[in-house]
Amino acid sequence: MRYADLCGLYDALASTTKRLEKTRALQIFLQTTPKESLRHAIYLCQGTVFASHEKEKIGVADRLILKALSIATGAEESELEKSWKEIGDLGEVARSTIQKKRQSTLFSQPLTIEKVFDNIKRLVTMEGEGSVEKKLSLIAELLTSGSSNEAKYVIRTILGDLRLGVGDGVLRDAITWAFLYPDVPYNTEKNVLDLGEECRKKYDAIIEEVQSAYDILNDFADVAQRLRDRGSEGLRNMPIHVGRPLKVMLFQKADSVADAKKQVGAPCAFEYKYDGFRLQIHKNGDTVALFTRRLEDVTAQFPDIVGVVQRYVTAKQCIIDAEAVGIDPESGKYRAFQEISQRIKRRYNIDEIAQRFPVEIAVFDIIAKDGRDLLTMPFGERRKILETIVPLIPRAMAPSKMFITDNESAAQAFYQSSLDAGNEGVMAKSISAPYKPGSRVGFGVKVKPVMDALDLVIVGGEWGEGKRAGWITSFTVACKDDDTLKEIGRVGTGIKEKSEEGVSFEELTNLLRPHIVGESGRQVTIKPEIIIEVHYEEIQVSPTYASGFALRFPRFVRLRDDKSLDDVSTLSQVQDLYDDQRGRNANIDDASDGLV
Ligand code: ATP
Repeated sequence: MRYADLCGLYDALASTTKRLEKTRALQIFLQTTPKESLRHAIYLCQGTVFASHEKEKIGVADRLILKALSIATGAEESELEKSWKEIGDLGEVARSTIQKKRQSTLFSQPLTIEKVFDNIKRLVTMEGEGSVEKKLSLIAELLTSGSSNEAKYVIRTILGDLRLGVGDGVLRDAITWAFLYPDVPYNTEKNVLDLGEECRKKYDAIIEEVQSAYDILNDFADVAQRLRDRGSEGLRNMPIHVGRPLKVMLFQKADSVADAKKQVGAPCAFEYKYDGFRLQIHKNGDTVALFTRRLEDVTAQFPDIVGVVQRYVTAKQCIIDAEAVGIDPESGKYRAFQEISQRIKRRYNIDEIAQRFPVEIAVFDIIAKDGRDLLTMPFGERRKILETIVPLIPRAMAPSKMFITDNESAAQAFYQSSLDAGNEGVMAKSISAPYKPGSRVGFGVKVKPVMDALDLVIVGGEWGEGKRAGWITSFTVACKDDDTLKEIGRVGTGIKEKSEEGVSFEELTNLLRPHIVGESGRQVTIKPEIIIEVHYEEIQVSPTYASGFALRFPRFVRLRDDKSLDDVSTLSQVQDLYDDQRGRNANIDDASDGLV
């Protein structure tokens, strides 16, 4: 398939901010994409050449691109760099430079999406001697073969910055429309779906099924191929592959132990809520793979956990869900998440840091065992299976501490004992519920003392002055509203002056620096990559920020490098928190009215 056709779609997607228009354009494109090009087209529309479950990520240094562009066009690197500084987008620099040069020297021959895909994939995975030269020629080949518009998109793809506004939700809906619901009644004038109440229910159910398929397969190309070949039959018997991560089940929150019991239903299982990070552990014979909650492969960072799983987990093959929690080697007590979080990103001296910050894994669920998929099995039974393969090995691994009861004061005492042991709170789980990947269904809830927290993404900032010059000292944060981000406030407190005391301005600035995409005076615009947990005193309605809300006394609590953009708090969660808070305040007012 011609790459120019895909670029035509890109142009259409970039020309609208309307989600439904994007979905329609993508639907039509997918319907007309030849079978053999579907996989390539889907990955490229996501701005990548890899499935979400694959560990490789696209990432090529700006310098290399400047060099390749210079080779392909004959323009001086310094000249290219100058226009890059002016325009701020290397894709656009490529487009305009090639457009100018093309008139004189270069000739054009059609690029295919397969060619673009293959070159980018080779480029990203290539290592070793002579690889820089080979990489340069792979990029230059694409730049000299395609049109200037194609060059723009090639460069943006290589940079991992396609800017089409196509998130997972749009892609999921477009795949559904293309292969299951081609005549979805879309009123383009009003920009709404014209579905009656009955149809709406059916439609929502189909979308949910497609989402569930994706949550298991973790690959939109697989989902699309199944739907294209087998229609809705393709949604049945979704295979689980040991070694390929699936989305983790998430939990809702409860205000108290009593509320948890009410939400989950009695009797329910209470478990310690460990303050660590989540690991989905895959064991296949002696091969063990570890994935974070955002499904990043962190096997190399935790050789200690790999060893423990190889040695003690008795199943030949399994997928288990666990929390890795830091323990103090001397006292054996749990450590706070912040102290061990550096292990997740560490790429060097791994054995040394593993010794300094040992972790223990608390295993709380099982998804597959010895070729058997356990997703639909009730939690109570899954837990029994888990206990047969996960022994208690002090300071290494154990089934999570659990207590089944329908007695509220006993549950309350368990909650207190969990807090006393240094945990965050408790989880309450329905014994009869299945495991639902990717969803925050109410099969389980968390109860912890501090509830007013949001996970927000940093989208901007301000350089400090005086002795804080050189650091970004105020951070604009945003929540998610569908596929867009909406600002909700600025955070400046909670970050430390010195790194010994916690996350410092310097550390945060260094993390953000590569993602700065624009500057004006002291203000910077930042590509949304870094997610932080923010506590606040109150949510207020405010016209200052696009979300319509602002946070009173927002405070940085910790980096959430275990979370992805998908996990950022949503505007509707903010709205709910705001409503709850008004409810609480209303009660206080009511009470005082009563007293007067
Ligand atoms: P939080 O910010 O409160 O950690 P979260 O947004 O990361 O929550 P939730 O689904 O809301 O995720 O809370 C559940 C998280 O708690 C799980 O993802 C897991 O990492 C952790 N956890 C600790 N102990 C348990 C347990 N016994 N069972 C399930 N999850 C547990």
